[in-house]
Amino acid sequence: MNKNLVLGLYFTLGISTLWAQEKAKHEDTEFYEPVPNVVTPGKLPSEPPSDAIILFKEGNLDQWVSNSDHSSPVKWEVHGHYFTVKKGTGNIETKQKFLNYQLHVEWKIPSNITGEGQARGNSGIFLASTGDGDGGYELQVLDGYNNKTYVNGMVGSIYKQFIPLVNAAKKPGEWQTYDIIWTAPIFNTDSSLSSPARATVFFNGVLVQNNVSLKGETRWIGQPFYKKHGACPIKLQAHGDKSEPISYRNIWVREL
Ligand code: MG
Repeated sequence: MNKNLVLGLYFTLGISTLWAQEKAKHEDTEFYEPVPNVVTPGKLPSEPPSDAIILFKEGNLDQWVSNSDHSSPVKWEVHGHYFTVKKGTGNIETKQKFLNYQLHVEWKIPSNITGEGQARGNSGIFLASTGDGDGGYELQVLDGYNNKTYVNGMVGSIYKQFIPLVNAAKKPGEWQTYDIIWTAPIFNTDSSLSSPARATVFFNGVLVQNNVSLKGETRWIGQPFYKKHGACPIKLQAHGDKSEPISYRNIWVREL
């Protein structure tokens, strides 16, 4: 090929590339729809935003039922703006069922807590309650302030599945927060798993679980596995240990 012809081809290709770049506009990659809904945030990060479903704010546990007997009133003790686990009366769960959601929960280990390890302020939030007792997926609630236990069962763990990224626990006697993003598992028509449950958890505002894919329902003994289910209540655990009962307050959820 003639040297001048080659140079001419390079020149033509260069001009064409410049033209193509000039024709592309910044507007091409800027989108204006769909417009996200406006949601007014609360004054404090822990206050419910305008579109939240309030599960507990003050005075009563009307949004909750006994886990083992839905016709039985909840026996946990309400004290104005908070309520306390009543050990021996069983777990409680929401009347409403949820699939995917953002959940805010505050809880407090009493300042006079005794016991150690798993027997020191044990409770739990079952992110989907699949039945009686401890059926479902437990985010552990436990004293984590100088309280040694197995790390995949400590506060902030997805119990016996995922160790928290950090320990962000406050001292007993101080209110603590969980902010959770839950994606429910999806099952095929033949009941096999299509996609696992996923959880992201902030503990006192600090990321402790980063979009982990759960291995199945929580199992105290043995390996976790899935059983097909749909929308489920959110459940709070009345653990059988002998330590002083913990309290909860300011619980709200946003369906996703
Ligand atoms: Mg527990």
